[in-house]
Amino acid sequence: MEAYVEGELKELRDVFNSGKTKESSWRRSQLQGILTLFKERENDILKALNQDLGKHHVEAYRDEIGTVVKSAKYALGNLKKWMSSKKAKLTLNSFPGSAKLVPEPLGVVLIISSWNFPFGLSFEPIIGAIAAGNAVILKPSELAPTCSSVLANTINDYLDTSAIKVVEGGSNVGEILLRHKFDKIFFTGGPRVGEIIMTAAAKFLTPVTLELGGKCPAVVDYISSSWDKKIAMKRIIWGKFGACGGQACIAIDYILTSKKFTPILVEMLQKYIKKSFGDNPMESHSITRIINKKHFSRLKGLLDEPGVKSSIVYGGKSNEECLFIEPTILVDPPLDSAIMTEEIFGPLLPIITLERIEDSVEFIRARPKPLAVYGFTNNESLQKKMISETSSGSITFNDAIIQYVADTLPFGGVGGSGYGRYHGKYSFENFSHEKAVTKRGYLIDFGFRYPPWNNKKLQL
Ligand code: NAD
Repeated sequence: MEAYVEGELKELRDVFNSGKTKESSWRRSQLQGILTLFKERENDILKALNQDLGKHHVEAYRDEIGTVVKSAKYALGNLKKWMSSKKAKLTLNSFPGSAKLVPEPLGVVLIISSWNFPFGLSFEPIIGAIAAGNAVILKPSELAPTCSSVLANTINDYLDTSAIKVVEGGSNVGEILLRHKFDKIFFTGGPRVGEIIMTAAAKFLTPVTLELGGKCPAVVDYISSSWDKKIAMKRIIWGKFGACGGQACIAIDYILTSKKFTPILVEMLQKYIKKSFGDNPMESHSITRIINKKHFSRLKGLLDEPGVKSSIVYGGKSNEECLFIEPTILVDPPLDSAIMTEEIFGPLLPIITLERIEDSVEFIRARPKPLAVYGFTNNESLQKKMISETSSGSITFNDAIIQYVADTLPFGGVGGSGYGRYHGKYSFENFSHEKAVTKRGYLIDFGFRYPPWNNKKLQL
């Protein structure tokens, strides 16, 4: 494997140095290739997602085909603008002169992706890397093996494999890759591996982007109109269970609400869980399965902790054979239990009750900075307080997850939830260096800048 990786990297380096990937026509042809790949291999992609994760084809299309196609089209439509240089002003003592910012690709970049959205989280950064003119090596997650194999085969069939390569495998392959020098590492995964990535990158002074996770809270305020309440509940249920069965970095992790609103909130959530997944959710095809036995046991372990089990007010049933855990609601599990200190990444929804909804701000501030904060409230002063007094990758009011699909918004974390951002033009910038280019003319020259120094020069 070591020799294979070395060979692949040498080819990528040679191709990058040849200037091929910098050509606008090459970038366009590869982005177009991604669109063709998704059009012609849609069925293979949907089947793989169903096989590895039990994702329903509607959800799979929405999250892993629709979003990638949208992003590739957006990059194609904006490429000319992103690639063009931008004028910059100089100080007066540089007259006559001009300056501009010229984006240049970084070189050979490594993308390591996660299993929960195996196509989306691989292609989204690939689009940025290609648009910016880089050569790319992708290591998908071994935990979604069918998807990993479809990624490798389709990329081979549709893209320029001299400049875009897939290396499949687990942590051992990741470790081999990390022994080499890259010009950028873009990582999506958990904080434990994030540390390994950053340490390996430091050896070569390689810049990194870390798309990590964490606990994303949803502050649910009492909403007066019944229409608002109905939509809010649907969006909360969808934001928790509707994308990969809660195995999403920006899924709602837990709810903060006021004590007096809790009984009605629990009742409404139950009603909308039933509406979405029926009376027996185990038979529903609209909820993605847990990825594997290890994660199933981890989630079961969260529920089995002392003091947690007794806080279950809805759901809690599971079936290891079909890797299914029922959408589960808990009220006030102990704050020091793992379910409230670790990222849940599954269909368990704790509700933490507070005396006043405003206390939610202090609750969030006392914990690591989330990737996303959600607020279900029309109270403008609470919204303002949440924006100004909490820190997170993003904050969304009265909905969840929609921030991920907007090409106009940067996506990324802050503090423990990640470092760096991408999507739309931010992806292009992520994989580019903006070089400062300055030119002078010889028409005028100010003598005071040159030695020898004397007091007369100082008086100027
Ligand atoms: P993970 O960190 O276990 O693995 C991520 C990737 O790193 C995989 O490809 C894996 O093979 C590779 N890897 C593992 N050990 C490695 C090593 N020693 N050296 C090099 N590579 C190694 O994470 P996961 O289980 O795939 O994903 C779950 C985590 O990812 C959650 O914390 C979730 O919040 C986060 N996540 C974040 C985003 C985001 O966009 N911010 C998206 C999805 C998932």
